[in-house]
Parts: sequence; structure tokens; C-alpha cells
Amino acid sequence: MITVIGGGLAGSEAAWQIAKRGIAVRLYEMRPVKSTEAHKTGLLAELVCSNSLKSMEENSPSWILKQELMMADSIIMEAALKNSVPAGKALAVDREGFSRYITEKLEGLKDIEIIRKEITSIPEGITIIATGPLTSQAMAEELKKIIGEGELYFYDAIAPIIDAQSIDYSKTFFQSRYQKSEISIHSKERLSDTEISVDGDYLNCPLTEEQYRRFYEALREADRVTPRPFEDIKVFESCMPVEVLAERGYDTLRFGPMKPVGLIDPETGKRPFAVVQLRPENRERTAYNMVGFQTRLRYPEQERVFRLIPGLEGAVFLRYGSIHRNTYINAPLCLNADLSLKNKKDTFIAGQLTGVEGYLESTAMGLIAAINAIRRLKGLEPILPPPASAHGSLIRHLRESNPQGFQPANINLSLFPSLDIHTKDRAIRKKMIAQRALLEWQEYMRRINE
Ligand SMILES: Cc1cc2nc3c(=O)[nH]c(=O)nc-3n(C[C@H](O)[C@H](O)[C@H](O)COP(=O)(O)OP(=O)(O)OC[C@H]3O[C@@H](n4cnc5c(N)ncnc54)[C@H](O)[C@@H]3O)c2cc1C
Repeated sequence: MITVIGGGLAGSEAAWQIAKRGIAVRLYEMRPVKSTEAHKTGLLAELVCSNSLKSMEENSPSWILKQELMMADSIIMEAALKNSVPAGKALAVDREGFSRYITEKLEGLKDIEIIRKEITSIPEGITIIATGPLTSQAMAEELKKIIGEGELYFYDAIAPIIDAQSIDYSKTFFQSRYQKSEISIHSKERLSDTEISVDGDYLNCPLTEEQYRRFYEALREADRVTPRPFEDIKVFESCMPVEVLAERGYDTLRFGPMKPVGLIDPETGKRPFAVVQLRPENRERTAYNMVGFQTRLRYPEQERVFRLIPGLEGAVFLRYGSIHRNTYINAPLCLNADLSLKNKKDTFIAGQLTGVEGYLESTAMGLIAAINAIRRLKGLEPILPPPASAHGSLIRHLRESNPQGFQPANINLSLFPSLDIHTKDRAIRKKMIAQRALLEWQEYMRRINE
């Protein structure tokens, strides 16, 4: 028997995957006895906010993840397709129909026992914890006892990620702060079609005073997301949203994330008036993170305002910035590759709690936790998802990110391993990544179902 705690997206998927293989599951869900701040019903797999499960555009990262889930016979994908509503290129669902479908299907399975109760301590035996971004206080305390006080987070403050191929390198330069300027060469002199040669860890976007003023004024006027009533967000000073810093005064950003000290623009031989630093998001440098640019601007506003930064005029945003209430663990420090806890090997973590972000990413981590919990029950070695698949890419994010300042990720191109062949054509690149992912995933499915 396997215990699953939390009947959200990940817990429902996990329970389904286990029960459909004829293994008994006890699924605990605290709603409707006790609710979270955002859920409204007692249904399993409730969507707490948007009814969109993101893009269905062929070869997009979210499409790849959906294909993989469908190949794994995901109940979440089945319910979504059966309850879809027109939404252009996105997969949107009738939220009530979607959750009801999953609830009824799980309730009808003989191998699942659903118990409506808040769990406050982790039971003995093989257990999957899928209590989500709004994990109850008592369970959060229990988790802290196992993984350590400082390794469970309650908010995330995320900066945007930009596709490296969309940056105008002629306006930027590679340099680390206080690096000797003679070895930093303007990036446009170093660019070739196949390779970007870099001398510093950071790609810098320098701003003149006029450019800074334009950016500053646009940022002050930009539209923001309104916090939800329960999101009384107290972010650390170091995670302050850029627009809040801008409110404090004209120069505050120049003493914070846009400070130019220690940087010399090789084009002018001078320190710029202000600088936005971009840090590589992966070893292959296919994506860059805007350092210190966590924000609550609305997504279209992020595009409008951040494209005023020199070099980012045509920026493609792989991930937008956000700040919200979110319980998640420091996965690189606390999790094994099979999603079990390093300090409690029979306990698996699933869903958003692992450090992924989004409905389907959470579902995916329910699937992987279930596959590995079953293997543990049967005394088999774990089989890890292939590295080039969307699932494997998410797992790599959890395993290989820097534990210091670990931030959740949704599926995006920067998480996939880069291709052996270099192409500037984004559509071809996406197609090749998708084909490789699905081919490997097919083989993985064959192995786990053997
Ligand atoms: C306010 C908010 C809005 C979001 N909006 C979106 C969005 O629009 N799009 C998107 O892709 N993602 C969104 N997310 C992120 C995330 O993808 C979803 O929250 C997703 O539901 C996470 O899946 P999960 O299974 O990990 O957690 P959940 O779906 O939240 O499931 C966890 C379940 O565990 C239960 N539970 C908690 N503690 C206990 C306990 N101690 N004992 C028993 N049961 C317990 C809860 O009642 C809940 O049913 C949002 C998150 C939040 C917090």
C-alpha cells in the first residue's frame, strides 16, 4: 500500500498511476473539512486560478510536456481533453467539469481509499507528499523537522529569463564586476554564427542617462498584478521587486540591481550610467536570467518595459518574473533523483512542493513520484526519466540547480539540454528538441511498463 497526502493535481495523478497498476492507495485530502486560502471546493485536482493548462502549439515546451503525460496515460490530461473549452492555441478547461471528472474517476477505483482529513505527521511506509504551494501549517512544520528549518520556502520571487538568441549582442558586453577591463571585449566583436565567446560571467546591458530615465519612467507607470488577499507578501530586502525599488527614488535602482560599479563598457571605455546584468541560466548559455529583476508587473508590461533595455529590444521571454505565495523545498539539497527525501527515503515529494511551477509541471512530478514509489514498494531500482525529455529536464532543474537561492521553474526551452547541431531558426530548434524528447520518452515508457 502507498499513502498519498494531498489530492491536488500531483496527488490525484500519483494516486491514479498507482491504482491503475493494481496497487492499493490511501489518498488523504483535507478539503472540504479544512480548506486552503485559495481552493473553493472539495473536489480533487481543483484549479486554484486560471483554467488554462497553457500552450498546445506543436513543439512548444508545454506541448512536449503534455505529449509525454498523454503517453503516460495521465488522468489530468485525460480530464483536460474531455473538458476542454475553446481557447485558441491553449488548452483551457471547464474547471468544474475537469475536477469532477477526476474526483469521480478516482472515487470509482476499487484500489483507492479517499480519506478527507488533514495529515499533520508523515506516516510510516511508502508515502508521497503532494500538499502543494499552500501546504497546511502543520504539515509544513513536519517537513521542516525532516529537511531542516531553512530548507522550506514560503514565497518565491522570480526574475524573467530571456532566450539567448533574441538578445542584440552588439549593444551588450561580457564582463564580471571588477574584472580587468582590457580582457573584456565588446561582445559584438566576438560573435560568430556558431559560438559566442565570453570573457566574463555576466552579459551586461549598459544604459545611458537618457535610456535610464526612459526605462525608469516606464517602470513607474507600468501595470502590476494585484496581490491576493492572503498574499501579505513580506519579501526580503534582497528580493524586492524592481518596481518597488523604483518607487523609493530615481537612483535607488542604480544602487541596487542596476548598479554600474566595477564595470567598464569596452565600447566607450567608461563606466555606464546604469547596467542590467544577465546571468547564464544554463551551461550552454541558451538563456539568460535578469539578475535582481524579480517583479510583479503584468506579463505584457514586462515585455513592454524590459524591452526598453539596450540589447533586449527583441527579447523573447522564456519565463516572466513573478512573486507569490508558494511552499516549496530546497530540492537540490533535499531530494534524491527519484524524488524521495534524502533524510527519509520512503517519503517521496510530488507536485509544486518539489520546486516546479505550474499545473502540468506539478502533475508531471506526481507521475514521477508515483513511478518511483511503486518501484520502491517492489524492491526495484528507480528508473529516471530521460534527460532530454520534458520530465527529465524538470528533474535536472531540481537536482542540479544551485541550492543557494534555488527558485521554482516552469517548463521552458532553457531547461532542455542543448542540441548537438546549432541552428538560429527557433522553429527548427523547437522541433528537434521535441522530437528528441518524445523519442526518449517513448523508450522510458516502454521500460517502466515492462
Ligand atoms: C494562488 C495560486 C494560483 C496559482 N495559479 C496558477 C495558474 O493559474 N496556473 C498554473 O499553471 N499554476 C498556478 N499555480 C501554481 C500551481 O501549479 C498550482 O497551485 C497547482 O495546483 C499545484 O499542484 P499541486 O498538486 O502541487 O498542489 P495542489 O493542487 O494545491 O494540491 C495540494 C492539495 O493538498 C491539500 N493539502 C494541503 N495540506 C494538506 C494536509 N496537511 N493534509 C491533507 N491535504 C492537504 C490541499 O487541500 C490541496 O488539495 C498557482 C498557485 C497558487 C498558490
